[in-house]
Amino acid sequence: MTVRLFEEDAYARLCDALVVRADEQGVVLDRTVFYPLGGGQPGDTGELVLDDGRRLRVADTRKGESGDILHLLAEGAESPTSGARVTAAIDWARRHVLMRYHTCLHLLCAVVAAPVSGGKMAEDKAHLDFDIDMAKLDAGEIERRLNELIARDDPVEAGEIDEAALDADPGLVKTMSVQPPRGQGTVRTIAIPGIDLQPCGGTHLKRTGEIGPVRVVRIRSEGKRNKRVTITLDEAAGVGAEAGR
Ligand SMILES: [Zn+2]
Repeated sequence: MTVRLFEEDAYARLCDALVVRADEQGVVLDRTVFYPLGGGQPGDTGELVLDDGRRLRVADTRKGESGDILHLLAEGAESPTSGARVTAAIDWARRHVLMRYHTCLHLLCAVVAAPVSGGKMAEDKAHLDFDIDMAKLDAGEIERRLNELIARDDPVEAGEIDEAALDADPGLVKTMSVQPPRGQGTVRTIAIPGIDLQPCGGTHLKRTGEIGPVRVVRIRSEGKRNKRVTITLDEAAGVGAEAGR
């Protein structure tokens, strides 16, 4: 089982690690800062740097079996040997943008009072799908409230909750369908105190202010129970991209 350093510190950009296994499925390290695709958040890209200076491009990161994390090498990249020492480094600029989008989706969850039926983030936009009447979604109002919450610069805190407590009272937390792994007795939670609390295994900012200004660019029906609200970071207006570097 790969040690998930990104859960302890989402701002860790690199780490030293040992190659546990490398085959056609991908490279498994004993520990990693690479987040694997899941819960609407894309897998990290970056590189594995070998002791002799060779740089192996990581094109994607996925969950493997038994808690392993698979680093998928770019086409043509030579596989490292088991036991090799590497420095694993993510593409930080890309990850930070994803963290800004991910954290903003937690706020969007709080702003729109409706069950979430799906969600996804990319490098240039993010969306949540809500089970709600189209008529109740006002782009201008959602955008205003999002930016209000971002400007409050609230802390974002990781915690945990007993699986049993969660099962007994599912209404305790809203779900963005970004469920962290189960089976350890507790589930990781992300709280923006007074605003949002939910189980989440993704990577988040330390404070909401780091998101920077956002815009609601589209509201569209994607089906009876899926009304999609799409947001984008307003880079022209914001300084969020520079924060936290
Ligand atoms: Zn999250």
